[in-house]
Amino acid sequence: MESKYRRLLLKMSGEALGGKDGRGIDFDFTGRVCQAVRRCTEAGIQVAVVVGGGNYWRGGKDGGDRMVRARADYMGMLATAMNSVALVDALEKAGVEAVIQASFGLERVAEPFNRDAAVRHLKAGRVVIFACGSGEPYFTTDTAAVLRALDIEADVLLLGKNVDGLYSADPRLDPSAAKFDRIEYSEVLRRDLKAMDAAATQLAMENHLPLHVFGLEDPENILRAAAGEGIGTIVY
Ligand code: UDP
Repeated sequence: MESKYRRLLLKMSGEALGGKDGRGIDFDFTGRVCQAVRRCTEAGIQVAVVVGGGNYWRGGKDGGDRMVRARADYMGMLATAMNSVALVDALEKAGVEAVIQASFGLERVAEPFNRDAAVRHLKAGRVVIFACGSGEPYFTTDTAAVLRALDIEADVLLLGKNVDGLYSADPRLDPSAAKFDRIEYSEVLRRDLKAMDAAATQLAMENHLPLHVFGLEDPENILRAAAGEGIGTIVY
């Protein structure tokens, strides 16, 4: 496999790991994701991962106004840590060495986040899973994915979604919706397209981090996106 990328960060939602019903862990699907990641690392691409936590808990949405918001958000960040542990296990089963780095102390299951150590792991061929988002409430794992991608100087952020790219309107509601092959960040913001949340989009735009949005339904799309194939949508 040929790739134009040396180092990439793959962001998946927690729901993706939950498979069809979006809850808990779908081991079969997660295993297929890990096989695709293995093929990327075998091709010499350095892979970091950020995973969400929505298959267990979403701070604002699930905690709502019935909890202190920051606590609800910490629960969300802990949910990302559970997914990270499941992923490290699945990666190991797929024959890939992987480590977790967490944004706050979880020393029994993760190393503390350290940018330089993460880069050393990546250069040694290990997958680095960044757990607990940014470590701060009121953020999302999309923002954390952009932050970590910038930290490690990734060439691209791969965003695996439940739709196969960015559309001019919601393709499930509007049959005339057209898919973009390439689109500028400023246009994504102007049209209010839901690639990532606005804070994450803004941060990626300001720092010239390219984004490749694609459908994760077929985990082999990770390979296609990593190879720079024209699937999904490129945001630049
Ligand atoms: N979260 C947070 N700060 C972060 C990342 C995540 O507070 O930097 C919390 C937030 O409550 C969020 C939850 O963790 O709702 C799970 O993350 P997210 O909703 O992004 O997961 P996904 O939808 O990608 O599965």
